[in-house]
Amino acid sequence: MYSKRKIVHIDMDAFFASIEQKDTPAFKGKPLIVGGKPQSRGVVAACSYEARRFGVHSAMPSSKAARLCPQAIFTRPRMDRYREISSEVMAIFLRYTPLVEPLSLDEAFLDVTTNRQNHPSATILAERIRSQIYQELQLTASAGVSFNKFLAKVASDFNKPDGVTTIPPGKAIDFLSALPIRKFFGVGKVTEKKMLSLGIRTGHDLRQLEEENLIFHFGKIGSFLYNIVRGIDDRPVEPARTRKSIGSETTFSHDTDDSNEIDSILTHLAEQIGHSLKKKQTGGYTLTLKVRYHDFTTITRSRTVRTPIYSSAGILSLLPELIAATNAGTQKVRLLGLSISKLIADKNAPYQLLLPFMRQDRQ
Ligand SMILES: [Mg+2]
Repeated sequence: MYSKRKIVHIDMDAFFASIEQKDTPAFKGKPLIVGGKPQSRGVVAACSYEARRFGVHSAMPSSKAARLCPQAIFTRPRMDRYREISSEVMAIFLRYTPLVEPLSLDEAFLDVTTNRQNHPSATILAERIRSQIYQELQLTASAGVSFNKFLAKVASDFNKPDGVTTIPPGKAIDFLSALPIRKFFGVGKVTEKKMLSLGIRTGHDLRQLEEENLIFHFGKIGSFLYNIVRGIDDRPVEPARTRKSIGSETTFSHDTDDSNEIDSILTHLAEQIGHSLKKKQTGGYTLTLKVRYHDFTTITRSRTVRTPIYSSAGILSLLPELIAATNAGTQKVRLLGLSISKLIADKNAPYQLLLPFMRQDRQ
């Protein structure tokens, strides 16, 4: 039913660093690192292509980046500015289709099967989008075009930066056959190692395995891999901003450091959330405790579990370790909050996107 879809994945090139280079002409053409100063214990949040040539990449300690590229310019991230530009980019996407699913500030899926320009070619639409982004924002983007999300996303990485790659249905199997196993969605370092030890290096190798065999070795993800390596990925582009969390909080009428009082408020909040989860027939993988101290500093502590939390009992069992990670009870608090996120209906929840492919799963 989705075989005729036209999906575009757009990924801005070195987004944060490119914005800094656009806003500050002196940064243009220079190795630029957005992140913590090299003397600090900070890390690289983003870097320009000029810096990447020296082996610098994001998440690397800034001190190491400075050693690799001594002439690099360091600048602090300005998230508000990136958000502002991101919403301008998203507004350009919406000229083409209402079906835009942002994945992060600089990436989105667009379903252009039917589109506002009534144009039949998704590749031409992708080119128009890229050129509008360039004309209006002086930033480059890469695009992937295909008939499902997985292929579109892999394609956008193929001619990066400032390129477009289209994978039409007739080319999908060849493309997937040659693809290294780490490029498959859901294959992290651990899975890659296991795959390699089983002699699976590419999509071609992956396709030789029976579905049962893949499930046996890799669990739920096995079934997903079995399908995507055959070009089957029916996940829709989902623009709807679905509810991201269910939570509740209480502000005390007086600041308190009484642990009995703190415990009883948290128990009450847990019961309220348990009730909402039941009413909405959902659960979630992450529990977050929020504490605002008497001086208005606010901290959060989270824990993500593998089996969804469905009830107040599930929340209460995780609470002690979260409380222990705060100063609630030693410092006075004025507000406590609890929330459950990565809801099981949320596409960002682990494994949720595998649901369409699950057959024997009873969770
Ligand atoms: Mg990007």
